[in-house]
Amino acid sequence: MRNRRAALAAVAGAASLALTLSACGQNSEGGAKEDKGSAKGGTIGIAMPTKSSERWISDGKNVVKDLEAKGYKTKLVYGEDDPDQQVSQIENLITQGVKALVVAAIDNKSLNNVLQQAADAKIPVISYDRLILGTPNVDYYASFDNEKVGQLQANYIVDKLGLKNGKGPFNIELFAGSNDDNNTKYFFGGAMSVLKPYIDSKKLVVQSGQTNMTQVTTLRWDGATAQRRMDDILTKSYKSKKVDAVLSPYDGISIGILSALKSDGYGSGNKPLPVITGQDAELASVKSIIAGQQTQTVYKDLRKLAEVASTMVDDALNGKKPEVNDTKTYDNGKKVVPAYLLQPVSVDKTNYQKVLVDGGYYTADQLK
Ligand code: BGC
Repeated sequence: MRNRRAALAAVAGAASLALTLSACGQNSEGGAKEDKGSAKGGTIGIAMPTKSSERWISDGKNVVKDLEAKGYKTKLVYGEDDPDQQVSQIENLITQGVKALVVAAIDNKSLNNVLQQAADAKIPVISYDRLILGTPNVDYYASFDNEKVGQLQANYIVDKLGLKNGKGPFNIELFAGSNDDNNTKYFFGGAMSVLKPYIDSKKLVVQSGQTNMTQVTTLRWDGATAQRRMDDILTKSYKSKKVDAVLSPYDGISIGILSALKSDGYGSGNKPLPVITGQDAELASVKSIIAGQQTQTVYKDLRKLAEVASTMVDDALNGKKPEVNDTKTYDNGKKVVPAYLLQPVSVDKTNYQKVLVDGGYYTADQLK
Protein backbone atom coordinates (compact mmCIF):
# COMPACT_ATOMS: atom_id res chain seq x y z
CA MET A 1 0.00 0.00 0.00
CA ARG A 2 2.95 2.30 -0.60
CA ASN A 3 1.96 4.61 -3.35
CA ARG A 4 -1.69 4.51 -4.03
CA ARG A 5 -1.58 6.88 -6.97
CA ALA A 6 1.04 4.76 -8.65
CA ALA A 7 -1.07 1.73 -7.94
CA LEU A 8 -4.12 3.44 -9.37
CA ALA A 9 -2.20 4.43 -12.48
CA ALA A 10 -0.95 0.87 -12.88
CA VAL A 11 -4.43 -0.58 -13.08
CA ALA A 12 -5.92 2.31 -15.01
CA GLY A 13 -6.18 0.17 -18.10
CA ALA A 14 -8.91 -1.90 -16.55
CA ALA A 15 -10.50 1.13 -15.06
CA SER A 16 -14.05 1.18 -13.82
CA LEU A 17 -15.93 4.42 -13.45
CA ALA A 18 -14.67 4.54 -9.89
CA LEU A 19 -11.09 4.31 -10.97
CA THR A 20 -11.52 6.89 -13.66
CA LEU A 21 -12.88 9.36 -11.15
CA SER A 22 -10.15 8.60 -8.65
CA ALA A 23 -7.38 8.87 -11.18
CA CYS A 24 -8.61 12.32 -12.18
CA GLY A 25 -8.54 13.39 -8.56
CA GLN A 26 -12.22 14.08 -8.69
CA ASN A 27 -14.79 13.11 -6.15
CA SER A 28 -18.43 12.24 -5.95
CA GLU A 29 -19.47 15.78 -5.16
CA GLY A 30 -17.99 16.84 -8.47
CA GLY A 31 -15.59 19.21 -6.74
CA ALA A 32 -12.48 18.40 -8.70
CA LYS A 33 -9.64 19.20 -6.35
CA GLU A 34 -6.11 19.79 -7.37
CA ASP A 35 -4.37 16.51 -6.64
CA LYS A 36 -0.71 16.78 -5.80
CA GLY A 37 -0.03 13.11 -5.62
CA SER A 38 -1.92 12.37 -2.41
CA ALA A 39 -5.55 11.51 -1.88
CA LYS A 40 -6.18 14.70 0.11
CA GLY A 41 -9.32 16.35 -1.05
CA GLY A 42 -10.73 13.02 -2.13
CA THR A 43 -13.84 11.49 -0.64
CA ILE A 44 -13.80 8.77 2.00
CA GLY A 45 -16.81 6.47 2.24
CA ILE A 46 -18.07 5.67 5.74
CA ALA A 47 -20.61 2.86 6.16
CA MET A 48 -22.19 2.63 9.61
CA PRO A 49 -24.68 -0.06 10.70
CA THR A 50 -27.66 1.74 12.20
CA LYS A 51 -29.01 5.00 13.53
CA SER A 52 -31.13 3.15 16.07
CA SER A 53 -28.30 3.28 18.58
CA GLU A 54 -26.78 6.53 19.71
CA ARG A 55 -23.25 5.19 19.64
CA TRP A 56 -23.19 4.75 15.85
CA ILE A 57 -24.57 8.23 15.33
CA SER A 58 -21.65 9.58 17.36
CA ASP A 59 -19.23 7.33 15.46
CA GLY A 60 -20.47 8.72 12.13
CA LYS A 61 -20.15 12.33 13.28
CA ASN A 62 -16.74 11.80 14.84
CA VAL A 63 -15.23 10.04 11.82
CA VAL A 64 -16.59 12.71 9.46
CA LYS A 65 -15.17 15.48 11.64
CA ASP A 66 -11.74 13.88 11.92
CA LEU A 67 -11.44 13.09 8.22
CA GLU A 68 -12.56 16.56 7.24
CA ALA A 69 -9.96 18.01 9.60
CA LYS A 70 -7.39 15.98 7.69
CA GLY A 71 -8.52 17.51 4.39
CA TYR A 72 -10.91 14.86 3.04
CA LYS A 73 -14.49 14.97 1.93
CA THR A 74 -16.78 12.32 3.33
CA LYS A 75 -19.86 10.32 2.40
CA LEU A 76 -21.56 8.82 5.45
CA VAL A 77 -24.23 6.14 5.03
CA TYR A 78 -26.25 4.07 7.51
CA GLY A 79 -27.47 0.57 6.62
CA GLU A 80 -30.39 0.49 9.08
CA ASP A 81 -29.36 -2.97 10.28
CA ASP A 82 -30.12 -4.48 6.85
CA PRO A 83 -27.06 -6.34 5.48
CA ASP A 84 -28.27 -6.13 1.84
CA GLN A 85 -28.76 -2.41 2.13
CA GLN A 86 -25.24 -2.04 3.50
CA VAL A 87 -23.80 -4.02 0.58
CA SER A 88 -25.51 -1.80 -1.98
CA GLN A 89 -24.50 1.34 -0.10
CA ILE A 90 -20.86 0.27 -0.21
CA GLU A 91 -21.19 -0.61 -3.90
CA ASN A 92 -22.47 2.91 -4.51
CA LEU A 93 -19.60 4.43 -2.59
CA ILE A 94 -17.12 2.49 -4.72
CA THR A 95 -18.88 3.56 -7.92
CA GLN A 96 -18.73 7.15 -6.72
CA GLY A 97 -14.95 6.92 -6.57
CA VAL A 98 -14.21 7.02 -2.85
CA LYS A 99 -10.52 6.82 -2.02
CA ALA A 100 -10.94 4.65 1.06
CA LEU A 101 -13.69 2.93 3.01
CA VAL A 102 -14.40 2.86 6.74
CA VAL A 103 -16.91 0.09 7.42
CA ALA A 104 -18.71 -1.03 10.59
CA ALA A 105 -20.36 -4.20 9.34
CA ILE A 106 -23.95 -5.24 10.03
CA ASP A 107 -23.35 -8.88 9.09
CA ASN A 108 -19.64 -9.61 9.27
CA LYS A 109 -19.81 -12.25 6.53
CA SER A 110 -21.91 -10.45 3.93
CA LEU A 111 -19.30 -8.09 2.54
CA ASN A 112 -16.92 -10.42 0.68
CA ASN A 113 -18.12 -9.61 -2.83
CA VAL A 114 -18.36 -5.91 -2.38
CA LEU A 115 -14.94 -5.75 -0.73
CA GLN A 116 -13.51 -7.61 -3.71
CA GLN A 117 -14.81 -4.72 -5.80
CA ALA A 118 -13.06 -2.32 -3.42
CA ALA A 119 -9.82 -4.28 -3.72
CA ASP A 120 -10.08 -4.31 -7.53
CA ALA A 121 -10.35 -0.53 -7.40
CA LYS A 122 -7.37 -0.35 -4.98
CA ILE A 123 -9.49 1.17 -2.25
CA PRO A 124 -8.13 0.50 1.23
CA VAL A 125 -10.66 -0.74 3.75
CA ILE A 126 -10.66 -0.04 7.48
CA SER A 127 -12.84 -2.39 9.49
CA TYR A 128 -14.40 -0.10 12.08
CA ASP A 129 -15.05 -1.60 15.52
CA ARG A 130 -16.53 -4.85 14.11
CA LEU A 131 -14.14 -7.13 12.28
CA ILE A 132 -15.19 -8.14 8.76
CA LEU A 133 -14.71 -11.88 8.27
CA GLY A 134 -13.86 -14.23 5.43
CA THR A 135 -12.10 -11.83 3.09
CA PRO A 136 -8.47 -10.83 2.59
CA ASN A 137 -9.67 -7.39 1.51
CA VAL A 138 -9.61 -5.74 4.91
CA ASP A 139 -6.49 -3.68 5.48
CA TYR A 140 -6.73 -2.57 9.11
CA TYR A 141 -8.98 -2.95 12.12
CA ALA A 142 -9.73 -0.19 14.64
CA SER A 143 -11.54 -1.27 17.78
CA PHE A 144 -11.36 -1.78 21.52
CA ASP A 145 -10.06 -4.71 23.53
CA ASN A 146 -13.32 -6.58 23.10
CA GLU A 147 -12.51 -9.49 25.37
CA LYS A 148 -11.75 -7.00 28.11
CA VAL A 149 -15.23 -5.48 27.65
CA GLY A 150 -16.76 -8.81 28.67
CA GLN A 151 -14.32 -9.24 31.52
CA LEU A 152 -15.18 -5.81 32.89
CA GLN A 153 -18.89 -6.67 32.85
CA ALA A 154 -18.36 -10.03 34.54
CA ASN A 155 -15.87 -8.75 37.11
CA TYR A 156 -18.35 -6.06 38.02
CA ILE A 157 -20.98 -8.72 38.74
CA VAL A 158 -18.49 -10.80 40.75
CA ASP A 159 -17.48 -7.80 42.88
CA LYS A 160 -20.99 -6.45 43.35
CA LEU A 161 -22.34 -9.82 44.50
CA GLY A 162 -19.36 -10.40 46.80
CA LEU A 163 -18.53 -13.74 45.19
CA LYS A 164 -14.85 -13.41 46.03
CA ASN A 165 -15.81 -13.12 49.67
CA GLY A 166 -17.61 -16.44 49.46
CA LYS A 167 -21.14 -15.03 49.18
CA GLY A 168 -23.77 -16.89 47.19
CA PRO A 169 -25.30 -18.80 45.60
CA PHE A 170 -26.92 -16.21 43.35
CA ASN A 171 -29.13 -16.49 40.29
CA ILE A 172 -27.83 -15.00 37.07
CA GLU A 173 -29.09 -14.84 33.48
CA LEU A 174 -26.82 -14.35 30.48
CA PHE A 175 -27.35 -12.31 27.33
CA ALA A 176 -25.02 -12.00 24.34
CA GLY A 177 -25.03 -9.71 21.31
CA SER A 178 -25.86 -10.41 17.67
CA ASN A 179 -24.53 -13.67 16.28
CA ASP A 180 -23.48 -11.98 13.03
CA ASP A 181 -21.22 -9.51 14.87
CA ASN A 182 -17.70 -10.82 15.41
CA ASN A 183 -17.44 -8.87 18.67
CA THR A 184 -20.17 -10.96 20.27
CA LYS A 185 -17.98 -13.97 20.88
CA TYR A 186 -15.20 -11.82 22.33
CA PHE A 187 -17.58 -10.03 24.72
CA PHE A 188 -19.28 -13.26 25.79
CA GLY A 189 -16.04 -15.24 25.89
CA GLY A 190 -14.38 -12.57 28.04
CA ALA A 191 -17.33 -12.54 30.42
CA MET A 192 -17.56 -16.32 30.65
CA SER A 193 -13.84 -16.64 31.38
CA VAL A 194 -14.68 -14.83 34.63
CA LEU A 195 -18.15 -16.27 35.37
CA LYS A 196 -17.70 -19.92 34.44
CA PRO A 197 -15.75 -20.97 37.57
CA TYR A 198 -18.59 -19.60 39.72
CA ILE A 199 -21.19 -21.34 37.54
CA ASP A 200 -19.22 -24.58 37.82
CA SER A 201 -19.01 -24.27 41.61
CA LYS A 202 -22.75 -23.41 41.69
CA LYS A 203 -22.13 -20.06 43.36
CA LEU A 204 -23.83 -18.66 40.27
CA VAL A 205 -26.89 -20.52 39.04
CA VAL A 206 -28.43 -19.94 35.62
CA GLN A 207 -32.01 -21.01 36.35
CA SER A 208 -33.02 -20.95 32.67
CA GLY A 209 -30.19 -23.40 31.94
CA GLN A 210 -29.19 -21.23 28.96
CA THR A 211 -25.43 -20.90 29.16
CA ASN A 212 -24.21 -21.59 25.62
CA MET A 213 -23.64 -18.57 23.46
CA THR A 214 -25.96 -19.95 20.77
CA GLN A 215 -28.81 -19.94 23.30
CA VAL A 216 -28.33 -16.39 24.50
CA THR A 217 -27.54 -14.24 21.45
CA THR A 218 -29.74 -11.27 20.50
CA LEU A 219 -30.13 -10.74 16.78
CA ARG A 220 -29.04 -7.22 15.71
CA TRP A 221 -28.61 -6.28 19.37
CA ASP A 222 -32.34 -5.55 19.51
CA GLY A 223 -33.64 -4.43 22.92
CA ALA A 224 -37.19 -5.64 22.23
CA THR A 225 -35.88 -9.13 21.40
CA ALA A 226 -33.97 -9.19 24.68
CA GLN A 227 -37.05 -7.98 26.54
CA ARG A 228 -39.11 -10.87 25.13
CA ARG A 229 -36.44 -13.38 26.10
CA MET A 230 -36.22 -11.98 29.64
CA ASP A 231 -40.05 -12.04 29.94
CA ASP A 232 -40.01 -15.65 28.90
CA ILE A 233 -37.24 -16.61 31.32
CA LEU A 234 -38.96 -14.86 34.23
CA THR A 235 -42.21 -16.67 33.50
CA LYS A 236 -40.67 -20.09 33.07
CA SER A 237 -37.78 -20.17 35.54
CA TYR A 238 -38.40 -17.58 38.24
CA LYS A 239 -41.93 -18.21 39.51
CA SER A 240 -40.73 -18.53 43.08
CA LYS A 241 -37.16 -17.37 42.61
CA LYS A 242 -35.39 -14.05 42.19
CA VAL A 243 -32.78 -12.97 39.62
CA ASP A 244 -29.73 -11.43 41.29
CA ALA A 245 -27.68 -10.48 38.23
CA VAL A 246 -27.99 -10.17 34.47
CA LEU A 247 -25.02 -10.14 32.15
CA SER A 248 -26.04 -7.73 29.41
CA PRO A 249 -23.61 -6.93 26.58
CA TYR A 250 -25.05 -3.59 25.45
CA ASP A 251 -27.05 -0.69 26.91
CA GLY A 252 -29.95 -1.07 24.44
CA ILE A 253 -30.30 -4.70 25.52
CA SER A 254 -30.10 -3.68 29.19
CA ILE A 255 -33.01 -1.30 28.68
CA GLY A 256 -35.11 -4.15 27.24
CA ILE A 257 -34.15 -6.45 30.12
CA LEU A 258 -34.99 -3.74 32.66
CA SER A 259 -38.46 -3.31 31.13
CA ALA A 260 -39.15 -7.04 31.50
CA LEU A 261 -37.91 -7.01 35.09
CA LYS A 262 -39.99 -3.98 36.03
CA SER A 263 -43.13 -5.51 34.50
CA ASP A 264 -42.48 -8.48 36.76
CA GLY A 265 -42.37 -6.29 39.86
CA TYR A 266 -38.61 -5.89 40.23
CA GLY A 267 -37.51 -2.52 41.55
CA SER A 268 -40.32 -2.25 44.08
CA GLY A 269 -41.29 -3.86 47.37
CA ASN A 270 -39.02 -6.73 48.38
CA LYS A 271 -37.86 -7.36 44.82
CA PRO A 272 -34.80 -5.20 44.23
CA LEU A 273 -33.50 -4.91 40.68
CA PRO A 274 -30.63 -7.29 39.92
CA VAL A 275 -27.11 -6.16 39.10
CA ILE A 276 -27.29 -5.40 35.39
CA THR A 277 -24.37 -4.58 33.14
CA GLY A 278 -24.19 -2.82 29.76
CA GLN A 279 -21.93 -1.29 27.17
CA ASP A 280 -21.45 2.01 25.35
CA ALA A 281 -22.38 4.51 28.09
CA GLU A 282 -25.34 5.65 26.01
CA LEU A 283 -27.08 8.67 27.46
CA ALA A 284 -30.31 6.87 28.48
CA SER A 285 -28.33 4.17 30.25
CA VAL A 286 -26.05 6.58 32.08
CA LYS A 287 -29.19 8.34 33.31
CA SER A 288 -30.60 4.95 34.29
CA ILE A 289 -27.40 4.22 36.25
CA ILE A 290 -27.66 7.56 38.04
CA ALA A 291 -31.30 6.72 38.85
CA GLY A 292 -30.22 3.38 40.35
CA GLN A 293 -31.74 1.10 37.68
CA GLN A 294 -29.06 -0.22 35.32
CA THR A 295 -25.98 -0.86 37.47
CA GLN A 296 -22.99 -0.62 35.17
CA THR A 297 -21.91 0.11 31.61
CA VAL A 298 -18.66 -0.15 29.70
CA TYR A 299 -17.51 3.17 28.34
CA LYS A 300 -15.57 3.21 25.10
CA ASP A 301 -14.29 6.62 24.09
CA LEU A 302 -15.62 6.88 20.54
CA ARG A 303 -13.70 10.09 19.95
CA LYS A 304 -10.49 8.09 20.20
CA LEU A 305 -11.79 5.31 17.97
CA ALA A 306 -12.68 7.80 15.23
CA GLU A 307 -9.26 9.38 15.54
CA VAL A 308 -7.55 5.99 15.19
CA ALA A 309 -9.66 5.05 12.14
CA SER A 310 -9.20 8.34 10.34
CA THR A 311 -5.45 8.34 10.98
CA MET A 312 -5.35 4.82 9.52
CA VAL A 313 -7.13 6.11 6.41
CA ASP A 314 -4.79 9.07 6.08
CA ASP A 315 -1.68 6.95 6.56
CA ALA A 316 -2.84 4.21 4.20
CA LEU A 317 -3.53 6.78 1.49
CA ASN A 318 -0.20 8.46 1.95
CA GLY A 319 2.12 5.50 1.82
CA LYS A 320 2.60 5.47 5.61
CA LYS A 321 2.18 2.31 7.63
CA PRO A 322 -0.67 2.90 10.09
CA GLU A 323 0.19 2.39 13.75
CA VAL A 324 -1.15 -0.88 15.17
CA ASN A 325 -0.81 -2.45 18.61
CA ASP A 326 -2.17 -5.96 17.96
CA THR A 327 -1.09 -8.26 15.17
CA LYS A 328 -2.26 -11.56 16.66
CA THR A 329 -5.80 -11.54 17.96
CA TYR A 330 -8.05 -10.71 15.04
CA ASP A 331 -7.91 -13.53 12.53
CA ASN A 332 -10.78 -13.08 10.10
CA GLY A 333 -10.44 -16.53 8.55
CA LYS A 334 -8.32 -15.25 5.65
CA LYS A 335 -5.69 -13.23 7.47
CA VAL A 336 -4.81 -11.77 10.83
CA VAL A 337 -5.95 -8.19 10.42
CA PRO A 338 -3.51 -5.70 11.98
CA ALA A 339 -5.42 -3.87 14.67
CA TYR A 340 -5.28 -0.89 16.93
CA LEU A 341 -7.21 -1.67 20.09
CA LEU A 342 -8.27 0.95 22.62
CA GLN A 343 -9.04 0.32 26.28
CA PRO A 344 -12.63 0.13 27.59
CA VAL A 345 -13.52 1.45 31.06
CA SER A 346 -16.13 0.16 33.52
CA VAL A 347 -18.52 2.91 34.64
CA ASP A 348 -21.10 2.92 37.41
CA LYS A 349 -22.67 5.42 39.78
CA THR A 350 -19.40 5.92 41.65
CA ASN A 351 -17.21 7.05 38.74
CA TYR A 352 -19.45 8.35 35.94
CA GLN A 353 -18.81 11.93 37.03
CA LYS A 354 -15.05 11.54 36.85
CA VAL A 355 -14.93 9.43 33.67
CA LEU A 356 -17.77 10.80 31.58
CA VAL A 357 -18.27 14.37 32.77
CA ASP A 358 -14.72 15.36 33.73
CA GLY A 359 -13.54 13.45 30.66
CA GLY A 360 -15.71 15.73 28.49
CA TYR A 361 -17.81 12.91 27.00
CA TYR A 362 -21.06 14.32 28.41
CA THR A 363 -21.85 17.62 30.04
CA ALA A 364 -23.42 17.59 33.50
CA ASP A 365 -26.51 19.17 31.89
CA GLN A 366 -26.95 16.27 29.45
CA LEU A 367 -27.15 13.86 32.36
CA LYS A 368 -29.90 15.78 34.20
C1 BGC B 1 -20.03 -2.75 19.44
C2 BGC B 1 -20.68 -2.36 20.74
C3 BGC B 1 -22.16 -2.15 20.53
C4 BGC B 1 -22.80 -3.26 19.74
C5 BGC B 1 -24.23 -2.94 19.40
C6 BGC B 1 -20.76 -3.91 18.84
O1 BGC B 1 -20.15 -4.31 17.68
O2 BGC B 1 -18.67 -3.04 19.67
O3 BGC B 1 -20.09 -1.18 21.22
O4 BGC B 1 -22.78 -2.10 21.78
O5 BGC B 1 -22.09 -3.52 18.57
O6 BGC B 1 -24.32 -1.82 18.57
